[in-house]
Amino acid sequence: MGMHTLADAQARDRADALRGYRDRFHVPEGQIYLDGNSLGLLTRDAAAEVQRALLQWQTLGIGGWLDADPPWFTLGEELGALVAPLVGAEPASVVVTGSTTVNLHALLATFYRPEGSRRKILATALDFPSDIYALQSAVALHGGDPARDVVQVASDDGRTVDEAAIIAAMTDEVAFAVVPSVMYRSGQLLDIARLAAAGRERGVPVLFDCAHSAGAVPHAFDAWGVDFAVWCSYKYLNAGPGATAGMYVNRRHWGATPGLAGWWGYDKDRQFDMVYEWRGGAGAGAWQIGTPPLLATAPLRGSLRLFHEAGMTALREKSLALTAYLMTLIEDLGLCGEPYGYSIGTPREDARRGGHVAVEHADAARIAKALRARGVIPDFRAPNVIRLAPVPLLIGYEDVWTTVQHLKAIIDGGEHLQFTIGRERVA
Ligand SMILES: *Cc1c(COP(=O)(O)O)cnc(C)c1O
Repeated sequence: MGMHTLADAQARDRADALRGYRDRFHVPEGQIYLDGNSLGLLTRDAAAEVQRALLQWQTLGIGGWLDADPPWFTLGEELGALVAPLVGAEPASVVVTGSTTVNLHALLATFYRPEGSRRKILATALDFPSDIYALQSAVALHGGDPARDVVQVASDDGRTVDEAAIIAAMTDEVAFAVVPSVMYRSGQLLDIARLAAAGRERGVPVLFDCAHSAGAVPHAFDAWGVDFAVWCSYKYLNAGPGATAGMYVNRRHWGATPGLAGWWGYDKDRQFDMVYEWRGGAGAGAWQIGTPPLLATAPLRGSLRLFHEAGMTALREKSLALTAYLMTLIEDLGLCGEPYGYSIGTPREDARRGGHVAVEHADAARIAKALRARGVIPDFRAPNVIRLAPVPLLIGYEDVWTTVQHLKAIIDGGEHLQFTIGRERVA
């Protein structure tokens, strides 16, 4: 207890080499923003890139396709190369395009190839619903029965799924697997390297949905031999609501004919030949479909600058320290016992934890509202999870310390009881 003082939190902040990055963000007045895993905040760098894009459109008109800096024509590839170091990939294996769900569809349409008795798609019981809808529709497009062919590996505790159970389910009836890197609710980080290797041994291509790990956890997709990955740019990557997403295609899959082809995936040198015979672009770029949205892509160029400057290793180190600190404070302050009734739904081992902590409570919906009223922005996931993401570019130890005091004070004062349980915000 003695070590968990405000002064101690402040001392940790003073020793934090990353503390200066907070000033690069527009933080809404008076907020401790712990929702960066759902929608990252605007940085000055991202805003400046949008201004620059607008100015180039203003001054160059159509000339911007080739003469803007960077040229809009190759924006997806250019940004892909900038994201690549964050996921441990060679530049041409990453492209910035589409949305997480669209990219998942684009890869399923190409690489889910049901044949004979190998028709099933493996997923988990804790997946983000959009992924499951995509898998169900992919199966149906191939004339299969989604109820039979989408197999969701069960969770023993409702929070996590064992890698061993996923691997055991990779039978010779499985044609494709989609696995989250980090579970969106509990924050469990799965062992990507192990799952990728198991898939390769069993002839099951594995796609990782990295929406909750891109920008939060370092990856080594190339070294791990990952087949495919998709992720969004508006969570930890701070590129704005609906920002253009990311896609990784390992080089051993390059050259396949995209199942959802479009002219933006065409060989860049010949795209304007306007011929009808397909000739795919080099690398992951071939899975682009249409013209990239400049204004939804430009912010990523700015927000990535912070990641390149700080480095994923340092960011991960601070993120783990902050989430561990948060969980320790909650426990040491007695919040997991009576009368508080909180529990922690996130794995305690560093290697099994992403960038957020799931604080569970029977009255989580109303506590989340009470937190917001106190200026702490959490994220609620029904029925009982308050997600708290102390993103290391933005959040410090004092913020975490203060948040835990709020969690305690809300129960002490019965403050949450004045809120009604209504339809929660969807974001
Ligand atoms: C946020 C999230 C998505 C979002 O998909 P969009 O196509 O960007 O709307 C998909 N999958 C997971 C796991 C997510 O967390």
